[in-house]
Amino acid sequence: MAEINACLKCGSRNISGLKQLAYWAKGSGPMMGIYTCQDCGYEGHPFVLDSLRDYKKLLELKKEEQNARIKKG
Ligand SMILES: [Zn+2]
Repeated sequence: MAEINACLKCGSRNISGLKQLAYWAKGSGPMMGIYTCQDCGYEGHPFVLDSLRDYKKLLELKKEEQNARIKKG
């Protein structure tokens, strides 16, 4: 089963792990698994999901979060 990586902030799957290689090249050690979201610019650890079903659940959560924010004003 393939793992799905998604942005922690916006839930996008349009993230890349190129940063990880950059940090590796610099030899700065612990900055492993750092991803950059191409959609919102988030940098950090991604959501790692086991299945497409879990990913859809995440998207639903994100949607609810946004709705709650709109209601709050
Ligand atoms: Zn994002």
